[in-house]
Amino acid sequence: MLVSLFSLFCFRCKEERPTVTVKMTGTMPIVTQSCTSCGEDSYAWPSQPFVFGKYPTGNILLSFGILISGISLSKTLLLFKHIGLSMFSGRAYHQHQKKYLVPFILRYWESYRQRLINLLKGEKNAVWSGDGRYDSMGHSAKYGAHTMFCNTINKLVHFELLQSK
Ligand SMILES: [Zn+2]
Repeated sequence: MLVSLFSLFCFRCKEERPTVTVKMTGTMPIVTQSCTSCGEDSYAWPSQPFVFGKYPTGNILLSFGILISGISLSKTLLLFKHIGLSMFSGRAYHQHQKKYLVPFILRYWESYRQRLINLLKGEKNAVWSGDGRYDSMGHSAKYGAHTMFCNTINKLVHFELLQSK
């Protein structure tokens, strides 16, 4: 549908029937018109805005959605393949995760936790629950998680991942 729309006329000089090519960058098509009157690549339309200078927003948002919902990357890639949707590679996903998602989530968590701690500093009768878990079903024998939950505000305030030795 995009190709038929962009084939109507050159968006720069209005010349009829330009040649149209579509290049995919992950989930984003970039439609380019080449026109006989104003030359090759006369008009290019990326279908998404960019974030961090060069990444199509939809690609980063999709990586974020996969990570935050806990669904499997390989099954997501398979789903996109089966319904014929363009998608970035598994390598790109890991790059998004390492470069942007994990650092941003960590930064958010740290500021969120600091806000909770500041709130609780004024609370004289705070009730706390704490627990540690090692080697239970489906969890690692090497690492464990200690969690501190504040019953007064019904929020998880702190957790530590520790090696069992
Ligand atoms: Zn033109």
